[in-house]
Amino acid sequence: MTGRILSHAELIELIDLLGASRRLIGPVRRGDHYFYEPVAGAARLALDAPQCVYSPKSFLFPPEETLLTFEKESGRFVAQPVLHDAPIALIAVRPCDIHGIRLLDHVFAAPPGDAHYEARRRQTFILGMDCAEPCRAEAFCADMSANTAHLGFDLMVARLAEKLEARATYAIEAGSETGENVLAEFGRGRAPGAVDEAARAERAARKRQAFPKRLRCDVDELPMALQRGFASKTWAQTAQRCYSCGSCNLVCPTCYCFNIRDDISLDGNCGSRVREWDGCQLRDFALVAGGHNFRSDPAQRLRHRVMRKGRWIQDRTGLPGCVGCGRCDGACTAKISIREMFNALAEEAGHDGD
Ligand code: SF4
Ligand code: SF4
Repeated sequence: MTGRILSHAELIELIDLLGASRRLIGPVRRGDHYFYEPVAGAARLALDAPQCVYSPKSFLFPPEETLLTFEKESGRFVAQPVLHDAPIALIAVRPCDIHGIRLLDHVFAAPPGDAHYEARRRQTFILGMDCAEPCRAEAFCADMSANTAHLGFDLMVARLAEKLEARATYAIEAGSETGENVLAEFGRGRAPGAVDEAARAERAARKRQAFPKRLRCDVDELPMALQRGFASKTWAQTAQRCYSCGSCNLVCPTCYCFNIRDDISLDGNCGSRVREWDGCQLRDFALVAGGHNFRSDPAQRLRHRVMRKGRWIQDRTGLPGCVGCGRCDGACTAKISIREMFNALAEEAGHDGD
């Protein structure tokens, strides 16, 4: 086993060291829920928070951001890009959300590249927190191979002793050169010994048992099952319940669609170009100039989302379009479950193939 073993107090110190040169962002408890928020110090963080309502995506790809400002000078408009590149540290990011960020990295790096996302991402340190058990009943992250992350973080922490937090020990490993440098600079903790090896092996065995299979098909079979179900009645039947509210898009760590608008001063001499999140379940998402809507029917929109999450994004990027976090199931007041849609379509495809 590589890396170091830290006590709870040492982990807090390490996070505060990160916070000395970066804005700290991590899980904070609000009533019964947790949210990623900026904090002044590690003591404010709920490090064992099961899952935050939103993923930390919004700190890399904000719901609304100014991309550039423009002003008329000598009869011509001159534009000034707006880049946000203050260093941040995202703390206690769960494996599913790390997989989500890996997808965003891929999408926003596609030529010509998104300078705004990349400026933020270059200055982002990610400290991951491995999960020993599912965070919620709706999660099917293990089915999507997203309950563990081997890439996409600077440091990864796994809690070894699952007892009182203050007496817990943590195994910490670097996933990048930056992470290695931070660990070396910190210099605390101890090298893992035989007891830690045993604790780690026991934890891994428990983790393998703790995540039940919630998809009734193999994830590799899902893209073909969805394709075969493209004309299925399931879309229309399920969409009867859909309010087209877009809550499922809002909470999803892998949704990255956006709109661009120009806000212009009344005299027309200056303004700003603003990017804001969009959602494929909203009625006007596919509305184009001239008034035609390519997906005016909720069933078309539902199919679009489920096909993208289960097939099209994977085809295009080689990365999963859904990390199985279960947030959309939890957010949907109509109780529409993407996991159950995957299951229904896989079962239909199985019957068709009989
Ligand atoms: S959250 Fe549910 S009701 Fe709202 S758009 Fe998504 S599927 Fe439809
Ligand atoms: S589609 Fe739902 S379960 Fe999949 S990543 Fe998005 S919010 Fe999570």
